[in-house]
Amino acid sequence: MVARNRKAGVRVSETLLDFTNVEMTFPGGTVALRGVDLTVGRGEFVTVVGPSGCGKSTLLRIASGLETASDGTAQVNTDRIGYVFQDATLLPWRDVQANVELLAELNWQTKAVRAKKAAETIELVGLTGFEKHLPRQLSGGMRMRTSLARSLTLDPELFLFDEPFGALDEITREHLNDELLRLFVETRFAGLFITHSVSEAVYLSTRVVVMSGRPGHIVDQFEVPFDMPRDPDIRYTGAFAELVGQVSHALREGHH
Ligand code: ADP
Repeated sequence: MVARNRKAGVRVSETLLDFTNVEMTFPGGTVALRGVDLTVGRGEFVTVVGPSGCGKSTLLRIASGLETASDGTAQVNTDRIGYVFQDATLLPWRDVQANVELLAELNWQTKAVRAKKAAETIELVGLTGFEKHLPRQLSGGMRMRTSLARSLTLDPELFLFDEPFGALDEITREHLNDELLRLFVETRFAGLFITHSVSEAVYLSTRVVVMSGRPGHIVDQFEVPFDMPRDPDIRYTGAFAELVGQVSHALREGHH
């Protein structure tokens, strides 16, 4: 759905994900989500934090179309959706180039288009020179970059991230946070990101959404006031620590 400022003919906002009163009850009776209202527009990077099992992955799966909400409306206004999982999910027998080309291949793009797109996105994630490496020859961070490059070949308008950096060491994770922010500033997708780390959430996002324990519902939302591109040193400021404190507090309150 595209809202336009008619007078100026300028696109003022574009909601790519629009959830109203979304409920999810699994067969067997587990209520994973209850009454979730959430929108994500182009140029927004929304991070969801919440206790394990509160329905965060379910929320992403509904957004991606892998799962259907049992009630409410879950509207997604694009078919260009990127999805990055905690595990890089690379095919071990394919080199970086062939892994990155996989989604474009499944979308029936020609060999020439695939190769061009893969070269572009491999460069974007900083893996130029590693095209012929197999996944087992890469570090965890490089495998995740490969996975990011593969999603980027589809030019996602809505980009879903299910704890992609959770298994990485802290330095690699901070580095990838900065890379991801650079990609976000360059391409301005609508981002929906799940993490257990409150400081990662605050650092990456334009808005942090806090979910309660199961059945998951949104207990609070925080606009993040820091500019993009984000200065890595923002993490060491009092304002940053204060916001991390507020989000952590909301998370604890919502846990009961
Ligand atoms: P989170 O990502 O926040 O850890 P999930 O979305 O993975 O939580 O799961 C939310 C709840 O729904 C959990 O209790 C989980 O066991 C349950 N659940 C998830 N997927 C299914 C499924 N396919 N069938 C039944 N229950 C499920």
